[in-house]
Amino acid sequence: MAQATNRTPLISIVLPVFNEEAGIQETVDVLLHYVAARQERYELIFVDDGSQDKTVQILRAARQRSALIKLVEFSRNFGHQLAITAGVRYATGDAVVVMDADLQDPPSVIPSMIAKWRAGYAVVYGKRRHRDGETWFKKFTAATFYRLLESITSIQIPVDTGDFRLMDRKVVDVLDQMNEPDPFVRGMVSWIGFKQTGVLYDRKERYAGSSKYPLRKMLGLAMNGITSFSRLPLMLGALGLISVLVLLANLILGTVTGTTWLIITVALTGALILLALGATGTYIGRMFTASRDRPLYIVAQTEGFKQSQRHQQT
Ligand code: UDP
Ligand code: MG
Repeated sequence: MAQATNRTPLISIVLPVFNEEAGIQETVDVLLHYVAARQERYELIFVDDGSQDKTVQILRAARQRSALIKLVEFSRNFGHQLAITAGVRYATGDAVVVMDADLQDPPSVIPSMIAKWRAGYAVVYGKRRHRDGETWFKKFTAATFYRLLESITSIQIPVDTGDFRLMDRKVVDVLDQMNEPDPFVRGMVSWIGFKQTGVLYDRKERYAGSSKYPLRKMLGLAMNGITSFSRLPLMLGALGLISVLVLLANLILGTVTGTTWLIITVALTGALILLALGATGTYIGRMFTASRDRPLYIVAQTEGFKQSQRHQQT
């Protein structure tokens, strides 16, 4: 624990950023204001995930205002989860807080995370009580996904939590060792273990701009979550048994004509075989990606880090 040493703890705040020119200035202002009122020491690490708009220029200019601001710039868009991965690797804090750059995760929740951390918890995640300004479709799919994931995986991934969380240095050190392509960070953090707890918070509306998570990226994240932590989809083929049972039941009861049932059964079996093949392919695809062993992301440049703080790039 940080207070075991006699110095003021350093808290790193990591923010992945992608095309946030409409709101990033406000985020910087709110965070600098927050930091100024606190006892702890802070560093603010913005990871630009290949933004195409003025985000980077705004962040570079913000660096002139405060030396607390540090910047990692990717060579292109690698995705939210890899931006988090990189930011956490560059962080040097006794604890690291990950949050969205659109002010949906309010900084005012951080003090209660720090309080639980000081009380001995290694991970304090934000648990969403309300989700303002999100469509019913997003809320419904998110709620379903979190519950599905919980029921089919062997590790405890808390429901209704995103990546807004505080992690102790010992957790961050383990996370930094996990070199997974297509990471599902919140699952990896659950897997690491130690004492974990949550704080409830109301997830705010985006301050500006629109979600950078189109359906395609959301589905990708959901697939990564499931295939990283569960092998259950590989059992899909076992469902083929159902078709056999249906056929048998019909033969015994003799309700509908045999031909009709036969056609239904053949179609059903075919569909299940294709599903099972698709699931198998997904896992093989993940093995292929992992076996190439490429760097997870490419950093174009960094600003504001001390020479000794420059980490390995992968
Ligand atoms: N983001 C990113 N790379 C991406 C997509 C999003 O770094 O490819 C950032 C984005 O700028 C934001 C955070 O990740 O700070 C979460 O994205 P977003 O707010 O769009 O997701 P939502 O809150 O709608 O789920
Ligand atoms: Mg958001």
